[in-house]
Amino acid sequence: MEKALETGQFQVYLQPQIDFHTKKIVSAEALVRWSHPKKGMIPPFRFVPVFENNGFITRLDIFVWEEVIKTIVKWQKNGKIVVPIAINLSRVDMERDDIVDVLTGLLDKYRLDAKWIKAELTESVCMENDSLLMERMEQLKQRGFKIAVDDFGSGYSSLHLLKSMPLDILKIDKAFLDININMPQRDEIVIRDVVEMGKHLGVQIIMEGVETQEQSDFLEAIGCDIAQGYFYGKPMPISEFEKVLEENHRQEAEK
Ligand code: C2E
Ligand code: CA
Ligand code: CA
Repeated sequence: MEKALETGQFQVYLQPQIDFHTKKIVSAEALVRWSHPKKGMIPPFRFVPVFENNGFITRLDIFVWEEVIKTIVKWQKNGKIVVPIAINLSRVDMERDDIVDVLTGLLDKYRLDAKWIKAELTESVCMENDSLLMERMEQLKQRGFKIAVDDFGSGYSSLHLLKSMPLDILKIDKAFLDININMPQRDEIVIRDVVEMGKHLGVQIIMEGVETQEQSDFLEAIGCDIAQGYFYGKPMPISEFEKVLEENHRQEAEK
């Protein structure tokens, strides 16, 4: 694995996040890709759990974070459009005593303000009700990182999270958009209410996994802020994302 990292087999892909009001790309999520010399592209669901078990995930995540930070700094230096990027933090990362220092150390190294980084933690991690974890989240927040809860609604006591955590962003789990033939209205009601609640709480709502025009129209109608999904763009190499971003902002400016 170490060798795979050294030989550049891991790449950071970026997936656009679109603002419903302006239709502009306002941010991106960094998703790791493993292009294996023999096996080809290996999807994260195959290797992330393995690396979480053997501890390699933190090495890999630090690599991803550093690439993300370097990318934003490069945009700033070259006078390009700059958007914040969301990074994924595994529960294993959050269990490390030095995690906040590692992240802030990287920002210091490249002189980047933390406001450009959105730290995504899955709901299952947040649910642990672990005071140490809460403390770390609070520290990240204090250092200026934006905190996002990923896969919101996939666990049990999601609502409890809302009052106890220092959240900036809720990402509604894409499972809510899966076609549910038996009770489509129910999913709609849940999404609608989460969006409403988010507004009252002053947190930003991101809907992930948007694949169709219909879904997009519905989400826009109920006042969802931001969308991410194949409908707007798949995760892509950074160089490609840069082109898409410039093109998107140019087109929107012309309208
Ligand atoms: P996630 O954080 O919930 O990431 C969103 C996943 O949904 C990504 O899968 C993305 O490609 C996929 N997706 C985006 N739009 C759509 C859509 O319209 N429809 C559908 N069906 N799927 C969509 P991906 O890249 O395969 O990643 C899977 C999971 O692996 C991620 O879920 C995350 O938990 C983990 N992961 C990915 N990259 C990293 C990383 O760098 N570090 C860590 N710790 N975990 C990562
Ligand atoms: Ca995520
Ligand atoms: Ca998710």
